[in-house]
Amino acid sequence: MSYEVRMDHNMKMRKEMFTSLILAVVLIASPSTVSALAVSPLSDIETADLLFIREEEKMARDVYLVLGEQWNNPVFDQIALSEQKHMDAIKKILDRYDMADPIIDEIGVFGDPDIQELYDALIARGMASELEALEVGAFIEEFDIRDLWEAIEHTAVSKIKNVYVNICEGSYNHLVSFVDQYENLSGLDYEIQYLTPEEFEFVCEADTHSRPMKAAFLRRR
Ligand code: ZN
Ligand code: ZN
Repeated sequence: MSYEVRMDHNMKMRKEMFTSLILAVVLIASPSTVSALAVSPLSDIETADLLFIREEEKMARDVYLVLGEQWNNPVFDQIALSEQKHMDAIKKILDRYDMADPIIDEIGVFGDPDIQELYDALIARGMASELEALEVGAFIEEFDIRDLWEAIEHTAVSKIKNVYVNICEGSYNHLVSFVDQYENLSGLDYEIQYLTPEEFEFVCEADTHSRPMKAAFLRRR
């Protein structure tokens, strides 16, 4: 190669590298634009479900943190950690859809007035005795499970559905933990608070069920 041709070649290479560098910078600089382009918009009900469940998971976490401290029972702290993971899983979806986070970053404070009212009532009840606190835990899980089942039915987006199903399965375990603790501590049978007896029985036996059976159960509802 002559000197001139070589220079020309080098210039061309540099120009190409520069162009791809610019492209990379543009892509990194605007991740929200990229992700917004990659997903199709959600329906009003899908949006409402995500916002509600994000706050509902925080309500569960906050109640367990407060009751864990009150009764010094590690079951609440363990389950509170799991609720934080459920909150995080929903946050990831909110980010993916460029949705504003409804969470107020303070324990026991909620944007949704219904959730606030429920939180206040459950804390009042759970502070009365450790048994009541365990019943409060079981109530929250029964309540969450019903909302999650409904949210699963409201969406056809498999990524969202899968997150709900995972949270649901965690909630089944939480419910069983609270019910076991309640029964051990009181010597009484736990009385179902929110689900139907058939739903409750399904949830308590869920870990012996396979995923397709769970899906069939959800479809039947
Ligand atoms: Zn949860
Ligand atoms: Zn839970």
